[in-house]
Amino acid sequence: MYQWIYKQGVKRRNPLLPVAESFLQETDTWTRAELEKYQLEKLQELVHWAYENSAYYKKLFDETGVHPDDIRELNDLQIIPPITKKILLAENEAIHATASFERLIFSETSGSTGSPLTFHRNLEWDARHRAAIHRGYNWYGIKPWHRNGYFWGYNLDVKKHWKLKMMDKLVNRFRIFSYETDEINAFIKKLKRADYLEGYSSMIYHIAQKIEREDLPIRANLKMIKGTSEKIFDSYQPTVEKVFGRKIISEYGATETGIIAFECPDGNMHMTMENVIVEVIDGEIYVTNLFSKSFPIIRYALGDYVELDTETKCSCGREHTIVKSVIGRIGKEILGEQETYPSFIFYYIFKNIVMDGGEAIGYQVLQHEKGHLEFRLEPHLSAHTRSRLETEIVKYFATDMTYEISEGATFYRDGGKLKDFVSFIETV
Ligand SMILES: [Zn+2]
Repeated sequence: MYQWIYKQGVKRRNPLLPVAESFLQETDTWTRAELEKYQLEKLQELVHWAYENSAYYKKLFDETGVHPDDIRELNDLQIIPPITKKILLAENEAIHATASFERLIFSETSGSTGSPLTFHRNLEWDARHRAAIHRGYNWYGIKPWHRNGYFWGYNLDVKKHWKLKMMDKLVNRFRIFSYETDEINAFIKKLKRADYLEGYSSMIYHIAQKIEREDLPIRANLKMIKGTSEKIFDSYQPTVEKVFGRKIISEYGATETGIIAFECPDGNMHMTMENVIVEVIDGEIYVTNLFSKSFPIIRYALGDYVELDTETKCSCGREHTIVKSVIGRIGKEILGEQETYPSFIFYYIFKNIVMDGGEAIGYQVLQHEKGHLEFRLEPHLSAHTRSRLETEIVKYFATDMTYEISEGATFYRDGGKLKDFVSFIETV
């Protein structure tokens, strides 16, 4: 029945989805060379399209002396100036293609700060994005209509709550809204027949912790647990695996770019090379969305620091480039008395401790004033780990920073999302 409902929904929402899905199924086994050849073809098509249909790109290319025919190989992409979120907002209308589309899907990104970005996506863009997610599911033997539990929904009013429950029924989904024991028990009952879980990783972890602490009996046979929207800390994994039988896997992407990478069962995030071209310059990611015809996104500075691995051959056999890690968001910087520092330093501080054979620590760092940091740590540390941590802090900040460390701490939430670094200092 759910399969039928799902298929009716696809017909109505986006009839191009099945074609995109079977294409991505086929290209899943392509070699790197085949993938890159395909990327170049699609890139050339997109660049021509943007030049002919988008007032913004026409002007940009003319002003910078770029002609679409100049793109002869993937590296030639570098002659096109990057685009930022600021430009997407300011030049929104001029970027939108003037060509007419049979149908467009309205999209909105909910940035935690500033005005939301809105744009229209053509059907092929939407189909490719969703097909990429579905291919990832398929790696775990999951179909989109399979039964799933959803960890989402902070601050919901009751009316919305009911509406969501109805929607959830239609798509074979059940949801957990709070950390109340009654609700967790009801959730556990439903787990028996669930194929996968997804949602905020911090919530998955906290529910797992509570189940473990209260020794609630659980029977589940999950094929996948997927974390979305926020950072998945290494420190979550042991408890989640113990309670739910699987680790949390990651998916990386954004509304503007679509899915950039999806973690395979062998533990590597593979880039969706059929849909996007990724460049990393000075650690920052730039994404070209190859199917963004209605609102061309070429060399978009997404705002993350990432590491790629083009050498390792994943044991799963896929040749799609590996996104080794998404290190952190660009933006809020750490302010010392004298210097400023990128926020990904925290990633390295805690990673170094793990690499040294130490434990993975759940952490959050807050900055309320210049030259001072508040480290909030979830566990209580051994004397050895604590001194390791202090050594690391001094290694990166020397005397430019004072700090305090609270152990067994609770984390600050910015809306629903949990961030590893929160700065309360207003900068211009
Ligand atoms: Zn793999």
